[in-house]
Amino acid sequence: MFIEFGQKELGLKLLLPARLQKKIHNHVEKYFPKESGGIFLGHYADEGKIAIIDSIVIPKLFDSSAINFTRRVDDINMIIKKQYEKSNGCIDYIGEWHSHPNCSNNFSEQDYKTMQEISRDANVKITTPILQIVSVYEGLLEDQVYVFHKNKLFPYELYKH
Ligand SMILES: [Zn+2]
Repeated sequence: MFIEFGQKELGLKLLLPARLQKKIHNHVEKYFPKESGGIFLGHYADEGKIAIIDSIVIPKLFDSSAINFTRRVDDINMIIKKQYEKSNGCIDYIGEWHSHPNCSNNFSEQDYKTMQEISRDANVKITTPILQIVSVYEGLLEDQVYVFHKNKLFPYELYKH
């Protein structure tokens, strides 16, 4: 079962398996009130119009505090490379997710800069990375997904569960 997101302005769709959303939420709750996060691996369909998330990777090593989450790039890059090779180049890095404990799920200035860097990174094939932010406030978890496109973060809308 997929959770379906849409971005009307850009005509894009995003499919996130419900079990992966649950996995993310469990992880976010486990680390609350510290920030936590990871990356999305996936592939595209319909000439890049549909992004399908296949798995999430939670870094083994990370610096976690209430306001910051830093990926340990080496650890993560090795996992991405392995998945890429295993799937014959079908499954690759397509974005990031992290939590905002006691904070809204709007992206921060740092989040914007990070996504811009990723989109420009010569080692990353995609130029339109996805960002999911999970806010945790008074025990409630709320997702907001964005896609970085032409120097802007566009919000995705939830279509259906
Ligand atoms: Zn953030």
